[in-house]
Amino acid sequence: MKQRRMDYHLHTTHSMDGRQSVEALCRSMAEMGVEEICLTEHIEPGHPDKSLDIPPVWPVYLDEIRQMRKKYPQLVIRAGVEIGDNPLLRDQIKAELDKLPLDFRLLSLHLVNGVDPYEKELYFAGKTRDQAYREYAEAKAESILAWTDFDSIAHIGYAAKFSAFTGPEQALVYADAPDVFDAILRHIIRLGKCLEVNTSGFASTGDTFAHSTIIRRYIELGGENFTFGSDSHDVTRNYDGIERAKEMVRALGGKYQASFEKRKMTLWRI
Ligand SMILES: [Zn+2]
Ligand SMILES: [Zn+2]
Repeated sequence: MKQRRMDYHLHTTHSMDGRQSVEALCRSMAEMGVEEICLTEHIEPGHPDKSLDIPPVWPVYLDEIRQMRKKYPQLVIRAGVEIGDNPLLRDQIKAELDKLPLDFRLLSLHLVNGVDPYEKELYFAGKTRDQAYREYAEAKAESILAWTDFDSIAHIGYAAKFSAFTGPEQALVYADAPDVFDAILRHIIRLGKCLEVNTSGFASTGDTFAHSTIIRRYIELGGENFTFGSDSHDVTRNYDGIERAKEMVRALGGKYQASFEKRKMTLWRI
């Protein structure tokens, strides 16, 4: 089994908050010797910020990826989606996704009981750290347990990215909600799906999303499959922190890094 340089969480201008073209993304990845990338553009159905609830124009997105595959034959380019789950619209989201010929589904949650923790003042107001983090963890569990048809679980601990709590209090760790995280991790393992190691955490909490303590528990429970993603929205962060994160997960005993073609998983050494 071989190793592979891959980034499975990426945004371009097909996402409403992406700041790089597909071409700029592919060029920078090819220059860095990355072998495979997966674009994971946002859908955010029912997000209270209407400017975020704008999905990609799918035929245009897929067509552009086809063109880039011809232009950068040395780079494997996959078409994915970051599903911004919303319990109120879940059936509709699932039905829409089933119509799309995508390679990869990254299940994500940015809304915690209707509020995006990105709106720091709104989300953290009047909450203790324990309340704020537990509420997030429980919402994330509710979301994940309601899905079976996904490939990887995005950035567990997202609420800590914009936390009102700083320093050693910022990271959301396994001990913050062990029962909730166990339910999440057991679900992923039972289905044979992947846990994402999202490197955007290095800049905020100094660790990954999911936190290394959660990754350790996943491995302890028998979890083997990971995807690695930079969650880059512009050319400066493509593949950022991926090798560092792989080293960390390898040291924790992590086994496989997954890639996806038409939803079919292939495993590589981390
Ligand atoms: Zn996200
Ligand atoms: Zn993202």
